[in-house]
Formats: sequence, C-alpha cells, structure tokens
Amino acid sequence: MSTTADVIRSADAHSAHTYHPLPVVVASADGAWMTDVEGRRYLDMLAGYSALNFGHGNRRLIDAARAQLERVTLTSRAFHHDRFADFCTELAALCGKEMVLPMNTGAEAVETAVKTARKWGYEVKGVPDGHAKIVVAADNFHGRTTTVVSFSTDHDARDHFGPYTPGFEIVPYGDLTALSRAVTENTVAVLLEPIQGEAGVLVPPAGYLSGVRELTRERNVLFMADEIQSGLGRTGRTFACEHEGVVPDVYILGKALGGGVVPVSAVVADRDVLGVFRPGQHGSTFGGNPLACAVALEVIAMLRTGEFQQRATELGDHLHHELGLLVGGGAVTAVRGRGLWAGVDIAPGHGTGREVSEKLMERGVLVKDTHGSTIRLAPPLVISKEDLDWGLDQLRAVLA
Ligand SMILES: *Cc1c(COP(=O)(O)O)cnc(C)c1O
Repeated sequence: MSTTADVIRSADAHSAHTYHPLPVVVASADGAWMTDVEGRRYLDMLAGYSALNFGHGNRRLIDAARAQLERVTLTSRAFHHDRFADFCTELAALCGKEMVLPMNTGAEAVETAVKTARKWGYEVKGVPDGHAKIVVAADNFHGRTTTVVSFSTDHDARDHFGPYTPGFEIVPYGDLTALSRAVTENTVAVLLEPIQGEAGVLVPPAGYLSGVRELTRERNVLFMADEIQSGLGRTGRTFACEHEGVVPDVYILGKALGGGVVPVSAVVADRDVLGVFRPGQHGSTFGGNPLACAVALEVIAMLRTGEFQQRATELGDHLHHELGLLVGGGAVTAVRGRGLWAGVDIAPGHGTGREVSEKLMERGVLVKDTHGSTIRLAPPLVISKEDLDWGLDQLRAVLA
C-alpha cells in the first residue's frame, strides 16, 4: 500500500498542476466520512462541491447504478434506450418544464445553454445573425471551457487562454440597474448563478432574482439559472431560485444530478426554447447514457420526497446559527449562504483560507478555501447533526 507522501509525489510528477489539493489521499468513503490510505477518517464538509449531496456510497444510488451496470451502460444517441424517456420526463417534471437536453459535465451544460439562447435569439426572437449578446455577472463561475472562461473575471481562469469568444456582457452581480442598462434588443439571455458558489457563497440582495425575472420577461430575454451547484437540495429547496419564488426560463443542472457516481448534466426548459434544436445541431456521445439516466432517475426520486431539502433547511438553520455566533468574535468577519452551504470569511491574522483548511484537515475535517480568506462549508445533506456539530467544534478550535 502506498503512503500519503508517495502518492502525492507521483501525482505531482505525472499530472498537470491544475489543482492544489490538500495533502490527504482518500481510499474509501461512506456517507459524510472519508478514509485515507493510512486509515485516518475525515468528515467531508465539501461534498464534491455539491456533487455528493446524497453522501458517499449512497445505498439507493449505488444499487441503481449496479443494476444498470448489469443491463446496458451505453448505446449512444444513435439508438433509443429504455431509461432515456423516463429520465427526460421525470427531470422535466421536477423542474416544471417540458424538455430536457442531457449532457455530462456542468461546463458542457453551460455551453449547451449558450447555444440554446443564441439559436432561440436568432430563430424565435429575431436577433440579426451573429449579433446575439448574453449578459453575465462578474465573479461568476460557469466552468472551464474556452467559451466559458471568455466571460470569467477570474484572472487564473482566463489569462492566456484567448482569443476569447465574443458576445458576452459582464455586469456587477446583484445590481439590477446595471443589468437593465446592459440589456439591448440583441440580448438573448441573462446567465446567472442564483447564489455564486466559487465567489464565496454570495447570496444576492433580496429582490434581485425576482427583479431579474421581471426584467427578462419584459424585455423578451431568457433567464438562464446556473443551478449546477445551488440546485438539487443544497439550499433547502430543489432550486435556489425558489427562495424568491422565481422560475427561470432555463435551468442548468449538473453535479448532484449524477449522485456522486457518474457525471450527469442537463439543460431544462420549455418547448418554445429547447424546441429550436434539430438533429445534428448539438449532441454528446455520452450524454443521456443508460447508466447516467438510471442514477439520475434515482436522484430525482429522492428529491421528490422533499426529505433532503428539509434536512438542508433544518441542519442549515443550525449551521448558520452556530456560524453566526463566530462573527464578531475576532476570527470570522462574515458568514454567508443558505441551507447546508456557507462561505466563512476568516479575519486577517487568523490564517488564510488555505491555512485554516490545512488545520481543519489535521483535525479530521475536509473543507476548501476560496479567494484567499474564505472557507466553504457544504457537507453532504445526509450528514448527522452530531457529525455537523463535531465539525463545527473543530472549526471553533482552529479559530480559537
Ligand atoms: C461546478 C460548476 C460548473 C462546472 O461544472 P463542471 O462539471 O466542473 O464542468 C458550472 N457552474 C457552476 C455554478 C458550478 O458550480
């Protein structure tokens, strides 16, 4: 068996350094807990950036995957398969929409939404060909493809990857006036995260999302909500947009849709939007494959019970109450978030986000830092209250 140092050394030698992982080497995991190659246990307070909303090794999801593995795993979309229609029907119903376009990763779903909005703009709205504009928010995170980083404001994500895809307008997040000014007759969509995850779990001001909804409806512009991280239970609702009673035109989903088992993403909208596609105009070899559909169908069934949303609400209230007590105590300057999702800003002099994450790791808690001084907490929704409290104890000890 390899030791932690051996594994890290050969990963450093043979993988491109696109990440700076904490020095822990996971060998197995169950529920909210992971075990490393040396047998140490860690509470997972990141949950794969919400991809693991239902925890590691979730019985229902593993059983669904295993059963499908024995039947058929891939057909390509050249043929129908017997899980596809159910998946599309059930996901559309969960979203209150009519059509689904399945892909694999989040970035692919965002790309798909961009293509959808442009095609809709030219063929339905009547924007002159080649002139479509999409308005996005500063500090967004929508993935890593060349088009998606073209409208990033993060230098690490963007610099030296040009030439950039044109057709995007960037406005400050949470600013309705700026958004309204940026929308013209050539604007086909507004693309937003209802809560900005990578930016540090930034919740927009009250009334922003409903304002965006009103504005986009009035100006005949699609409201595309990137719910890849915020959706599917994390905030205490199926979709974070629900907190403001908002229904976007387009949902962009990923992460938890694959149950932490396989990558599954999708764009979900009504027929007047997704109906613009004809055969050959978009596709993916793996998108909507039988294994993906089987796992996602189980995810959808689990979300339909509402129990995960309720857990996220109850445990989230507890989490935010406890974190709120830390604010003003010297070590924490601000806490944001909704449900089982929090961004915690560490005060200067109490360590960087990375240093706090490393100290938490030494105490058996895994989190991820962002933007230098923030740590992100997003445990699996299946975490027990006792484990959550234990994790909070470790955070208090590190910050003491
Ligand atoms: C993770 C994420 C993406 C990109 O998803 P990938 O599967 O990593 O390509 C896009 N948007 C948001 C909001 C995300 O959190």
